[in-house]
Amino acid sequence: MIDLPHIIDGRRVDGGEWFDSVNPATRQPWARVARGTSDDAALAVAAARHAFDDGPWPRMSPEDRASHLHRLADLIVANADELAHIESTDMGKPISQARQKDIPRSAHNFRFFADFQRFCEDESIPVSSNHHVYTRYEPVGVAAAISPWNFPLMLATWKVAPALAFGNTVVLKPAEQAPGTCTRLGELAIEAGLPNGVLNVVNGFGPGEAGEGLTTSPEVDLVTFTGESNTGRKIMAAAAQTLKRLSFEMGGKGANVVFADCDLDKAVDWSIQAIYTNAGQVCLAGSRLYVERAVFDEFVPRFVARAEAMRLGDPLDPMTEIGPLANEEHFQKVSSYLEIADREGAKMLTGGAADGWWIRPTVFVDVAPEMRIVREEVFGPVVVIQPFDTEDDAVRMANDSPYGLNAMLFTENVRRAHRVAGRLRAGTVWVNCFFVRDLRSPFGGYGDSGIGREGGKFSREFFTEAKAVVLEL
Ligand code: NAD
Repeated sequence: MIDLPHIIDGRRVDGGEWFDSVNPATRQPWARVARGTSDDAALAVAAARHAFDDGPWPRMSPEDRASHLHRLADLIVANADELAHIESTDMGKPISQARQKDIPRSAHNFRFFADFQRFCEDESIPVSSNHHVYTRYEPVGVAAAISPWNFPLMLATWKVAPALAFGNTVVLKPAEQAPGTCTRLGELAIEAGLPNGVLNVVNGFGPGEAGEGLTTSPEVDLVTFTGESNTGRKIMAAAAQTLKRLSFEMGGKGANVVFADCDLDKAVDWSIQAIYTNAGQVCLAGSRLYVERAVFDEFVPRFVARAEAMRLGDPLDPMTEIGPLANEEHFQKVSSYLEIADREGAKMLTGGAADGWWIRPTVFVDVAPEMRIVREEVFGPVVVIQPFDTEDDAVRMANDSPYGLNAMLFTENVRRAHRVAGRLRAGTVWVNCFFVRDLRSPFGGYGDSGIGREGGKFSREFFTEAKAVVLEL
């Protein structure tokens, strides 16, 4: 067992109380985590406040801030094996995915925003012959970053990196189910020489404890949250009293539309990755698959064969493709959807529960639009496949969801690709691909999937105060 304390004001701070973090592969505790109270949150906020109001960070030149953040990225790279091991142990992610994707991407988040903020330009607006206006983008203050367990380090750094790069100070509240790598990040920030209080990590739970302590604190200026839509509702209500700026990235039920004129090999390949990566515990998962009727009978058996060929196993084995679900509660939730689907009359072609907290790649057909398995976010390796007849039908079915985070479409017809991409109500539409993300792109969702966008200049808008300076000439 290792200890995962809070990291506040450049120091490890033990909790009064602790709770266990369970390794989902062994179902045994592997770490003891500090259970932050709202007092611990207040301590972390006070440190961040002091670092913002009186410390060097928001006043530092963009170049100096960038070198600190690049040093932190260097340390993530230098410790990548350890971080990948922690991620995999904490939440069951196959180590190959953690080592090849999550951890390098976390370092990249810092490098990207370190450089982006240096190269950002402000505007100059010549209003009249007598006046001149220019803009300044100033740091906002103390940011609370509240992150989920499915990509623990990658999604935390996706918030922390732009917040810091634009000169804010941060209190990070990692998900209680997988706090290991975020706690290490707090330690690495000390090693990288970030001034005390610039990045604080407070561990623990949300309601009534560390998380809520942040969202209700009058000293916190902005909240960037990734998690479930229902949690977002609660955070918005809690933050209303102190009028915080909010950015929400929430649930999804990604539609994946396969037209008969597509490259079917590619469509099968991407569709498999889109739903089964990280055992489907991905906000962007392509969990609703719509296949044009002309190729439905060809697509489905090929998809099922690929799903059945995926390797379940120990997440620490580099050959494993599907690890266990991240925790017992979540395993129970996903299992309950298998029963609900069965009761609602859906037909399972393959999949179901395996030993431990594993769920095999699961495929349902014969589903109807009103079924819960079609409407609700399962957040597991479970896909529903439905046929469609026309482009209009496909668009209507894809858009028939409270969520709108992302969609995919497969077609070799360039006119259709653009036409349908424009009609799908989703924050990102991938055409003939999946998960290609340049950090300059806007990222976020329509409807219940989010509020606001982050990425590149969209992150600057959220993490800075834009000021107009007006001069008489
Ligand atoms: P969750 O909402 O249960 O928890 C997320 C975080 O919020 C955790 O740190 C938790 O402790 C905290 N929290 C919970 N209640 C709180 C409260 N009342 N006040 C303050 N903080 C509180 O989500 P999860 O189960 O960790 O993550 C899975 C969900 O996240 C899925 O719905 C998934 O789609 C979504 N997600 C979205 C994106 C995206 O970019 N849109 C990315 C990943 C995950």
